[in-house]
Amino acid sequence: MNIIFLGPPGSGKGTQAKIVSERLGFPQISTGDMLRAAVREQTPMGLKAKSMMDAGQLVSDAVVIGIVRERLSRSDCQKGFILDGFPRTLPQAHALRSALSEMNRQIDAVISLEVDEESVVRRIAGRRTCRDCGKMYHVEYDPPAVVDLCDVCGGDLFLRDDDKEETVRRRLQVYSEQTAPLVDYYTKAGLVCTVDGMQDISEVSDQILKVLGGN
Ligand SMILES: [Zn+2]
Repeated sequence: MNIIFLGPPGSGKGTQAKIVSERLGFPQISTGDMLRAAVREQTPMGLKAKSMMDAGQLVSDAVVIGIVRERLSRSDCQKGFILDGFPRTLPQAHALRSALSEMNRQIDAVISLEVDEESVVRRIAGRRTCRDCGKMYHVEYDPPAVVDLCDVCGGDLFLRDDDKEETVRRRLQVYSEQTAPLVDYYTKAGLVCTVDGMQDISEVSDQILKVLGGN
């Protein structure tokens, strides 16, 4: 079974893709990991990607698609795969469809994790990180014993730039502009299963496995 996971930042998409990958025995393929592996293994597309990155450019869609194609043709993907973080845009979704159809394959299901934006902002913007040992806390859900001090090493806790409210809101905005049209695209193809991403981690994964089992 070939599955795509879609979900905004803070939806737990990566965590869920990993759980489902382990339960179903299909590899979880995330764009970042795939890109790093292709560069490390010096595949033809990996070499192209490396020369773009060395030149300070973004890796083009054509090269990303080439890397996806290389990855999906490996033996561990023959029974199925889980794409996490790709496609990200409509043009990438079109390119993926043609690449798969050349391999006589197709996407069987798209899991769309839905979240409440305000809750995501609260979840992420409440994170605090220890400057010295890196341990993470949350001001509401997992606070340190003493405000702004690490329980383990006594280091200062700080709010990472990535976790700032304005950054989180911007990332949610980018997601809804670029990636949300994919939900429409795959809905028209009859592939989308919507899952409430605000529940507990195990409830979300149970629900995903249930909808996939029903396919
Ligand atoms: Zn610490």
